[in-house]
Amino acid sequence: MNSRRDFLQKITASAIALTILPRYSMAMPEQPYDGPVLRVAIMGLGSYGSRVAEAMQSCKKAKLVGVISGTPSKIKDWQSKYSIPEKNCYNYETFDKIKDNPDIDAVYVITPNALHHPHVIRAAQAGKHVICEKPMALNAKEGQEMINACKKANVKLLVGYRMHFEPHTLEIIRMRKAGEFGKILFFQGLCGFKIGDPNQWRLNKQLAGGGSLMDIGIYALNGSRYMIGEDPIWVTAQETKTDHNLFKPGVDETIQFQMGFPGGAVASCLSTYNMNNLDRFFLNGEKGFAELQPSTGYGPIKGRTNKGELNQPIVVHQTLQMEEMSAIILQGKQPVVPVDGEEALKDLKVIDAIYEAVKSGNKITLKLAE
Ligand code: NDP
Repeated sequence: MNSRRDFLQKITASAIALTILPRYSMAMPEQPYDGPVLRVAIMGLGSYGSRVAEAMQSCKKAKLVGVISGTPSKIKDWQSKYSIPEKNCYNYETFDKIKDNPDIDAVYVITPNALHHPHVIRAAQAGKHVICEKPMALNAKEGQEMINACKKANVKLLVGYRMHFEPHTLEIIRMRKAGEFGKILFFQGLCGFKIGDPNQWRLNKQLAGGGSLMDIGIYALNGSRYMIGEDPIWVTAQETKTDHNLFKPGVDETIQFQMGFPGGAVASCLSTYNMNNLDRFFLNGEKGFAELQPSTGYGPIKGRTNKGELNQPIVVHQTLQMEEMSAIILQGKQPVVPVDGEEALKDLKVIDAIYEAVKSGNKITLKLAE
């Protein structure tokens, strides 16, 4: 162990935590923790994997102990940055051998969307719990196969829905459950950004499985479900494409979709790769409203309701997510909003229906519980 490096890492991590988490840090003074720790290997050392790794340095209940990567130079960098032993490093060819490694409990799959299905199934078959990034898969059929594989291997499957732990979001959910907004009538979810590099995998149908809807629109869709507190029963959708060079067939630029819910609420959502500054949720009920803007970015999340500003703690989403996921996997904790494969499968069923609605122009009936 390189104690100086470890010390510097801890100092840096604490400094970051103090900068980003003023209210969180003050509200939660350092407590010694001697409970179970989830030992995690990250697969896919890209942009989001790097963010998760950095955030995990402030975790008590989860620890980054391994990597799976196709890029040897990244493995070397991560080894020295995070003190990862050689025996916990794998590439995509060797990683099935992780089954013989008792020092890794879970694999966090953070590769491009189309690879989630094979990667999750292989991790499950190696007997490891799996955390998978959103969207869990390219479609509901793949999602169901991943759930089945994890069940068969008797491992847990969780999906990186970081907003399900975010304090402003949870406060609105608490208020809605307490009836403070009255009967819920309407939700609006706006999610988008202007995509850059035309050569990235997000614009490649084979690797992304679609376009903005798979990547960012899924936040509005998933958000509609946890903000309203019900699952939709129908969906309609329309696509607009202004740039046919950047957005090839099968890669959506902008999709608007509408959903109906059993209690009578309707949702109107926009998903786009062609506009910046779109990160807003609005929930309206008979007695009040709630607004989040930004609603799903890395933070700080800001919210208000008809009663005034929300003043919840500001957290690093990925740190909190990994603390909570450790407790879910190792201690059977029940989250307020589920983050398991079944939850993600519901989103994939709606995504399938949105693409079908775009293609056919029809209103598609949904039965998410089946
Ligand atoms: P990046 O392109 O930055 O990283 C993906 C990594 O996957 C690569 O660096 C590479 O790592 C590995 N990889 C393996 N095979 C391929 C391949 N054929 N092409 C490209 N990369 C490959 O993507 P992101 O980190 O932004 O996204 C990864 C996943 O995380 C996506 O599913 C995305 O939706 C999700 N995500 C979730 C976010 C959230 O807030 N929850 C935010 C951003 C992304 P290596 O070289 O180590 O093999």
